Amino acid sequence: SARRVETFGTTIFTEINQLAQQYSALNLGQGKPDFDTPADIVAEMIKAAQSGQHNQYAPGPGIASLRHAVANHAARFYGLDIDPDQGVIVTAGATEGILSCVLGLVDPGDEVIVIEPFYDSYVPNILMAGATPVFVPLHPPTWTFDPDELRAAFTPRTRVLILNSPHNPSGRVFSREELSLVAELCIEHNVIVINDEVYEHLTLGGSTYIPIATLPGMFERTVTVSSAGKTFSATGWKIGWAYGHPDVLDGVARAHQFTIFAVHHPTQEAVAYALNQPDSYYNNFRTMYQSKLHLLMDALDGSGLTYRAPEGTYFIMADFSAVFDGMPRDFTRYLIKEIGVACIPPESMYSKGHVHIGKNYVRFSFCKSDQALVQAKGLLSKLR
Ligand code: PMP
Ligand code: GLN
Repeated sequence: SARRVETFGTTIFTEINQLAQQYSALNLGQGKPDFDTPADIVAEMIKAAQSGQHNQYAPGPGIASLRHAVANHAARFYGLDIDPDQGVIVTAGATEGILSCVLGLVDPGDEVIVIEPFYDSYVPNILMAGATPVFVPLHPPTWTFDPDELRAAFTPRTRVLILNSPHNPSGRVFSREELSLVAELCIEHNVIVINDEVYEHLTLGGSTYIPIATLPGMFERTVTVSSAGKTFSATGWKIGWAYGHPDVLDGVARAHQFTIFAVHHPTQEAVAYALNQPDSYYNNFRTMYQSKLHLLMDALDGSGLTYRAPEGTYFIMADFSAVFDGMPRDFTRYLIKEIGVACIPPESMYSKGHVHIGKNYVRFSFCKSDQALVQAKGLLSKLR
């Protein structure tokens, strides 16, 4: 293989899924719902496919109705004024959105600031662009960054900072104070933010998600990426989008044209329908996850693992140091083989030098049926 991909191994999600299957473990690893997409949203996709109107190439930037739905959604929830024609690009999930952002905004030799632990595709994306990742860790148990460490990460070569809020895997939703420091430093150093908000509607315990694009001076220097995967429990559809000021989006659009050109057409029709749903959909979605969070917390409470309730996402980072002596990968293997539950060890979400920061933690996902979460309680109680 080429040098640019030589160091890339199998993703942790593939690895753990295989192991979980091999040992028939209850899989609380990958953030993949074990329940279906709402039936009315699926029906829209079938209707679109059967209409005979939507089975050929969609326009490269995405169909007009979906671009308008993305702009209307950003206006409705965040008060953002997005140009549906020049300010939105429909992508093959947030994953392609982030890759197109990196390829379209970062030059070889540039530095990109990444908050650790990070979603696992960010760093390979940066490396494929020929750029250098610079890491700023979140410190457990509060999962906050040290303002001095953040400040020190900025150099004259910094081009982009990748932000993710609500944050996978820590469950943090960054506060206005935290975002203000990020914003201040990005403005001072003329840095663009790629903001990954795929968990935007997954806020828990009354926390509020603030998109960094809404902070003063940030709209012009932020590309926001999101996806239908989490919000509509449709991770298999891989429909996402990037939005922002047309000037920042220009490079992204150029890269998107030649990575994928256009995205699955009938599904775009269904996602446009989904985004336009009334507030009750989004409220019920949040309520459903709040109740699943409590089921997983209940399971962990009886296990000897400790954690802080997440402010968002469908993940909990749990500290296993009271019940197991070893690295997260070892604990995960033990948990799968001996206890029958799979989780995600965070080693692949850290740079080599920072793996020790997450050495007591593994990630559990609660995008699972209530029945599975109740079953987890029985299994995890065997850890004690
Ligand atoms: N960003 C984060 C933080 C994620 O957790 C995920 C996982 N789904 C993605 C991006 C990828 O999203 P998609 O499936 O839409 O490509
Ligand atoms: N976002 C999901 C997670 O973090 C799934 C990612 C993936 O399978 N690539 O678990």
